[in-house]
Amino acid sequence: MFRARRIAIYGKGGIGKSSTASNVAAACADCGYSVSIIGCDPKSDSSITLLKGERIPTVMDLLRNKVELCEDNVVYEGYKGVKCVEVGGPEPGVGCAGRGIIVAVTALQKITTAITESDLVIYDVPGDIVCGGFSAPIQKGLVSEAYILSSGEYMPVYAANNICKGLEKLNMPLSGVICNSRNVPREEEILTEFASEIGSKLVAFIPKDNVVQDCERDGFSVIEKAPDSEIAGVYRKLATAIMDCEESAIPNALDDERLRELLMM
Ligand code: ADP
Ligand code: MG
Repeated sequence: MFRARRIAIYGKGGIGKSSTASNVAAACADCGYSVSIIGCDPKSDSSITLLKGERIPTVMDLLRNKVELCEDNVVYEGYKGVKCVEVGGPEPGVGCAGRGIIVAVTALQKITTAITESDLVIYDVPGDIVCGGFSAPIQKGLVSEAYILSSGEYMPVYAANNICKGLEKLNMPLSGVICNSRNVPREEEILTEFASEIGSKLVAFIPKDNVVQDCERDGFSVIEKAPDSEIAGVYRKLATAIMDCEESAIPNALDDERLRELLMM
């Protein structure tokens, strides 16, 4: 049965959150769902491949320039009507990303219905800092389930486990672990086991494929630019799994010793 989705995608910086978020958004839009993507990472590149490579003004930039926020200067329609918002980041060395995200999502609630009325809203959240920025969309009650993206490498899995600790504290259910492959040996095995031990499951294995970067360089998702590629099929399958998900559970993070054991499996 159809149920509107409010999801956050977490994972170590550079692991592929924005690529995954934008391709899933595009795949769901192809299926006729109304979709919004809220980029909360200071890199503000979550939606760029849905907007033919164009950067949109960020909420933080508008606020810094004392521009009054309204739907027209904050929410931009991209591929197949996907609504795109970029929160943006603080000035390096000055502000706090977490604080900015809280200010931005609070403002968003007042100026747009995109975040309440879409069939799917994806929050592309910074995952290295498990602090205010990490939890802002959750604490504002805007997110109802989380996904964690990881490869089988040590640092991303370590970050994934830390994220689990954060989700546990916030009482936020996890709907699955997604492997974005870096071609590490036994990657699928490691992440299947990790997912199972934290009380979740591996919902997708996305291969490492240069098509992703090639399309991105031209300003497109693979769904738009290379719809017949193998990896486009993987993103479509993940999109279906997300829209049809029926089970999620608050994760139980592993202790450090078990995590090390697992990674040396
Ligand atoms: P994050 O948002 O987690 O910081 P990005 O989505 O920006 O990470 O991805 C980082 C880089 O990895 C980008 O250049 C992107 O094109 C590339 N990338 C992501 N997923 C894949 C993949 N499955 N295969 C090949 N390259 C990928
Ligand atoms: Mg990103």
